[in-house]
Amino acid sequence: MLRAEGIHKIYRDGKKDLRVLKGIDLEIKKGESVALVGPSGAGKSTLLHIIGGIDRPTSGNVFLHDKDFYTLPDRTRARLRNQKIGFVFQFYHLMPEFSALENAMMPALIKTQGSRLRTQGRAGTLLRQFGLGERLHHKPSELSGGEQQRVAIGRALINNPDILLCDEPTGNLDSDMGEEILRILFELNKKGTAIVVATHDRELAKRADKILEIKDGNFTL
Ligand code: ADP
Ligand code: MG
Repeated sequence: MLRAEGIHKIYRDGKKDLRVLKGIDLEIKKGESVALVGPSGAGKSTLLHIIGGIDRPTSGNVFLHDKDFYTLPDRTRARLRNQKIGFVFQFYHLMPEFSALENAMMPALIKTQGSRLRTQGRAGTLLRQFGLGERLHHKPSELSGGEQQRVAIGRALINNPDILLCDEPTGNLDSDMGEEILRILFELNKKGTAIVVATHDRELAKRADKILEIKDGNFTL
């Protein structure tokens, strides 16, 4: 479903190059769960952004449903990403001026000119499932970290993505809330959504079908 081949990423930092990824190959199958582990600075976020269509690799290719992602025009890639990929950022990246409900609706509003009412219904259903029924009209600044994270997951799911990419989804949460988020993520996975989770939490990683560790720019065997 998603395949990356020969991914290199070099950050040009002033005069010296920082070679973060050095020829990564990766395949994510339908419904699979994959944990991406490795020390801080190893390149987990970089790789997630690259396979999520957010950041272009220095070289290498990413194929989503056999479409070569970075050869597509930017708008086409953005549309494909919007339809097929859900991304949960480490620090949520909710839009401060919009309510929880509106934040969760946003990708669907971008996707179609379809019924705003239906989108609102679906966003409400998702957020209620995540225990946010009493928080729908709160702004991000009025929500706790765990609540914002759940809104961000709702937003990532609003368009029924085939694959959900999560960057340290429990990194900022206390352990109870972290556990709740993991329960939500793995339940979705059981229903067929592929998930890739970047984490340095070994316990979380163990719950995935596959653990991939990045070290010195490549996967360890
Ligand atoms: P991880 O998520 O595993 O902690 P990252 O992918 O965030 O690692 O970062 C990998 C390395 O690339 C780090 O050394 C980081 O400082 C560097 N890096 C990340 N983004 C940039 C950027 N935009 N410009 C320059 N260096 C970056
Ligand atoms: Mg990171």
